[in-house]
Amino acid sequence: MFKYPILSFCLLLVQISFGQQSLPNENFGLVIHGGAGTILKENMTAEMDQAYRAILAEAIAVGHAILKEGGTSQEAVEKTIHVMENSPLFNAGKGAVLTANGKASLDASFMDGNTLNAGSISGVSHIKNPISTAIAVMEKSPHVMLSGVGADQFAASLGMDTVPNSYFITERRKNALKRVQQSEQKEVSFYDPFIKDSKFGTVGCVALDKNGDLAAGTSTGGMTNKKWDRIGDAPIIGAGTYANNASCGVSATGWGEFFIRSVVAHDIAALVEYKGLDIVTASKQVLQKVADLGGNGGVIVMDTKGNVALEFNTAGMYRAHMNAQGKLEVKIYKNE
Ligand code: ASP
Repeated sequence: MFKYPILSFCLLLVQISFGQQSLPNENFGLVIHGGAGTILKENMTAEMDQAYRAILAEAIAVGHAILKEGGTSQEAVEKTIHVMENSPLFNAGKGAVLTANGKASLDASFMDGNTLNAGSISGVSHIKNPISTAIAVMEKSPHVMLSGVGADQFAASLGMDTVPNSYFITERRKNALKRVQQSEQKEVSFYDPFIKDSKFGTVGCVALDKNGDLAAGTSTGGMTNKKWDRIGDAPIIGAGTYANNASCGVSATGWGEFFIRSVVAHDIAALVEYKGLDIVTASKQVLQKVADLGGNGGVIVMDTKGNVALEFNTAGMYRAHMNAQGKLEVKIYKNE
């Protein structure tokens, strides 16, 4: 081979360029949350603790299998969130928290970090898996955000799974609504710690696929006892969800009003993109901004190198991460 130095050099170049083209992103992986709030070990039974860890592990394994097979981050986010939407444990899909009228009213959003396409729905009552309809808004409508009856009709027109509102309602959420409404009658302020912390449980997922594309999605029932068709941060692109291959993917959970005012998800991405901060520093900085305003909650973040941040300023956050090698981390409380 060394007899023909120019030929060898050309062969080497071809090998390098082919290698680069076909080399998959070996940092693929995903990160999920199942809500932040006053999640204290002393308030959890061993069974509940185990049930949450098991479903977090199940959900993340679904997305990881998709990514491992070379599937897209979009598909991984959608299918991972389905597991959590279908579980009564989380405040999304079945088991969503209830409005002041005792109904479930759901919000969801999705963003593609490669194209910056996005879709979201808010205040829907009959869509079994809201994350899929958020994706459908992105792919099958000229819009980014649909709400209420129209969004339900949009899903039905596409033949997506619809269910009666009663499908979403569980005894646990009925009791929580009763508790919050009783406190409200006692004229406890909305800022009372009990009210403040007892309402969360949103789910979210950020994934990075082998192509190096990020995607983020968030799905929620919002906050217990919400009134007047209140909409939180989860369906708002830039507040509860954001993804951009130039920076990172973000899904948030917490007191939505403060997350909207702090434009949390985009603010984190902007600090990473424009200021060059790493995702942990950026997340801490933005959550501090939320805390300074009087709000609380958490975020999951992933960048295109597969680094993750799971930051929160509440007692706990249901959360899990699985990297390309399949190493799984599932955590609930602060000091784990
Ligand atoms: N952020 C959601 C909302 O305000 C609630 C949550 O994260 O649990 O609607």
